[in-house]
Amino acid sequence: MSVSAHNTIHVDGEWRSALSAATREILDPADAKPFAVVAEGGAEDADAAIAAARAAFDRGRWPTTPVAERAALLRRVAGLLRRDREELGLLESRDAGKTVEEGRADIDCVADAFTYFADLVAAEGPGRVVDAGTDTVHSVVVHEPVGVCALITPWNYPLLQASWKIAPALAAGNTFVIKPSEITPMTTIALIDLLVEAGLPAGVANIVTGPGHSVGARFAEHPEVDLVSFTGGLVSGTKVAQAAAVGVKKVALELGGKNPNVVFADACATDEGFDTAVDQALNAAFIHSGQVCSAGSRLIIEESVRERFVAELARRAAKIRLGRGTEDGVECGPLVSEQQREKTEGYVASALEEGAVLRTGGKRPEPSGIRPATGYFYEPTVLDHCHREMRVVREEVFGPVLTVETFRTEDEAVALANDTEYGLAGAVWTADAGRARRVAGRLRHGTVWINDFHPYLPQAEWGGFGKSGVGRELGPSGLAEYRETKHVYQNLDPKPVRWFAG
Ligand code: NAD
Repeated sequence: MSVSAHNTIHVDGEWRSALSAATREILDPADAKPFAVVAEGGAEDADAAIAAARAAFDRGRWPTTPVAERAALLRRVAGLLRRDREELGLLESRDAGKTVEEGRADIDCVADAFTYFADLVAAEGPGRVVDAGTDTVHSVVVHEPVGVCALITPWNYPLLQASWKIAPALAAGNTFVIKPSEITPMTTIALIDLLVEAGLPAGVANIVTGPGHSVGARFAEHPEVDLVSFTGGLVSGTKVAQAAAVGVKKVALELGGKNPNVVFADACATDEGFDTAVDQALNAAFIHSGQVCSAGSRLIIEESVRERFVAELARRAAKIRLGRGTEDGVECGPLVSEQQREKTEGYVASALEEGAVLRTGGKRPEPSGIRPATGYFYEPTVLDHCHREMRVVREEVFGPVLTVETFRTEDEAVALANDTEYGLAGAVWTADAGRARRVAGRLRHGTVWINDFHPYLPQAEWGGFGKSGVGRELGPSGLAEYRETKHVYQNLDPKPVRWFAG
């Protein structure tokens, strides 16, 4: 990486420090020790970045660069990401606390997003010719870039979330400013360097590292910004939407989730089925210590198999190897911050007060050689006998906490699964194909998995119903977010219309 310490703000092709000269230490969540220092930008840095993106859009060549050239640049970026996979995967692990294996998988998915959007735009024709009902009119619908896009991203999948915005924004011909999470900015900074290396003109890609309340808020309210795409929590997302509404900007919101994992007894009828459903329930809830927007944090299980299933789930959850993400054999890293751990502890405490039964976890693990005492570790936790009135069932914990609710009928299962203000993702496990389709059709969630949990495809839309957000990322709709649609109507034989007599 060519970024020198503190110079992590990239405006109009130059790396610089914050105008205030403020800095921030970036901590490794595995030991709470700083491993990098970045610029702590403010509203004035946001203004400078937006001005550069505005000039690059209004007077630069990127918006009118032929689609084939834009696609070729995105493919070069994908190649550079693959070249730097090890370095970036490690950086993501240190920044966000995930295992290096997860970090590498993230980088593969980031490269896939760039390739997907390159292929998508390259395959498109020049526009959709519309039949105007007469051969004296040529009518065509075309797509154009929206303009200056302000992109705001969270800390759990820092580069992946950034790529789901940057790749389609660039494919469509926009310029952008991005603000990564203030606690995990490192890989997004590195990506800007790769965009420059791939040949992106100065001013098209700008980054301001800094906090949400100043840099992010300025992005959302700034009159020169045309579109705001935000991924993060419901509270900040609501503020972003309110600020953006004042300027009637386009807004896309990818917010939280409280995602049901519905398991019918018939899915557990064989030993293999039982093992698979338990294994995937663990994966759904505890990968990346549950800090996943689509985490299957609500197990909704048929009463007849509850005891056997939860006992096995708790037994296996207790065996998950917690430790520093860079250590061999570690299966799960720490939470991202002390704040996130304390939030998780608060939810577990409230659940126990409200009558939940702790089956495993519920505390900080003992330190060990792979688990420094200063790291933000928390044990995978299973809370049995939960119900809708509990805060832990209604609100997003964003930690390694799985709640268990039970049902007796299909209708009851569907009602429980839909009983959330969110609607990001959910799964149904059953051996009955008819039931699988019926339940999937009734779940009010943006992604529904049948006998699986967590996979996504860059070519399929991702996003939420209800308070999980507005708009979609990935797929053709993920590109459409970054475009204006224009109807060009050409009269080939103009004549007076004589609407007015004189
Ligand atoms: P967060 O809302 O605290 O922060 C997200 C980003 O918004 C950060 O960059 C932050 O600095 C910025 N921000 C905060 N306040 C702001 C404001 N007033 N104006 C503008 N920007 C502001 O979220 P987080 O804790 O970083 O991330 C976790 C959340 O993200 C969870 O709720 C999770 O479900 C959600 N998430 C959703 C998806 C999805 O695809 N739906 C994906 C990943 C994460």
